[in-house]
Amino acid sequence: MASIDMKNIVKKYGDGFPAVNDVSLDIADGEFMILVGPSGCGKSTLLRMIVGLEDITSGDMVIGGKRVNDLAPRDRNLSMVFQNYALYPHMTVYENIAFPLRLSKTPDDEVRRRVTEASDVLELKEHLERKPANLSGGQRQRVAMGRAIVRQAEAFLFDEPLSNLDAKLRGQMRTEISRLQRRLGITTVYVTHDQTEAMTLGDRVCVLRKGKIQQVASPRELYEQP
Ligand code: ADP
Ligand code: ADP
Repeated sequence: MASIDMKNIVKKYGDGFPAVNDVSLDIADGEFMILVGPSGCGKSTLLRMIVGLEDITSGDMVIGGKRVNDLAPRDRNLSMVFQNYALYPHMTVYENIAFPLRLSKTPDDEVRRRVTEASDVLELKEHLERKPANLSGGQRQRVAMGRAIVRQAEAFLFDEPLSNLDAKLRGQMRTEISRLQRRLGITTVYVTHDQTEAMTLGDRVCVLRKGKIQQVASPRELYEQP
């Protein structure tokens, strides 16, 4: 687990207006931070800079006390869950979840232990031999989360993970994510458009606008009428 400390982070694509413009934000160890704001305000760009999928133009990205600006994604030990969870269609649920551990050459019995544990938490035990095509949207999302969990990453990053699901599943998954994050106590950064998600999941909410932080507040401060 790790804190994420951003200091004067700037991202320019080409020579246009900065997509992220002098953002400083400290996310505590174990904290659940929500990023909200209108489309194009820089949420995804910020997330991608944390995980290392986007170069930082200037500023410092410090994770667990270590400056990571020049570290490749694989050396940051973070786990990102996208909205289009890229599951491998030819692999079973078990192999999909195990995939990051195969990449890191984890021994078979350790793989089995961690996949079993993750599928237990996510209630996927009955589906381990199925292929993604035979799963519901919610089950697929849970497989993608399982893949994130087995990595034992220092932080979770979510980019609108529930936006493709119907209302009922979204509610279930919201509960699931909340339970899981509390159980694991893992630092989490979560991009969403959904006020209910921000309210129920976030310890704090960071509002971005045109690449800048407009406000950082608890969900209660932000959304409850005075
Ligand atoms: P959000 O996630 O809040 O919708 P983004 O981080 O995707 O915002 O985008 C922030 C700004 O950066 C937008 O103006 C967008 O057009 C621009 N942008 C994002 N990705 C790229 C890219 N790969 N090349 C050029 N501009 C980009
Ligand atoms: P390669 O460089 O081996 O072709 P990638 O660039 O896709 O493969 O990924 C290399 C490593 O970067 C992965 O093993 C993983 O640790 C990390 N990585 C890539 N994408 C992500 C992500 N979205 N979230 C977390 N880590 C990632």
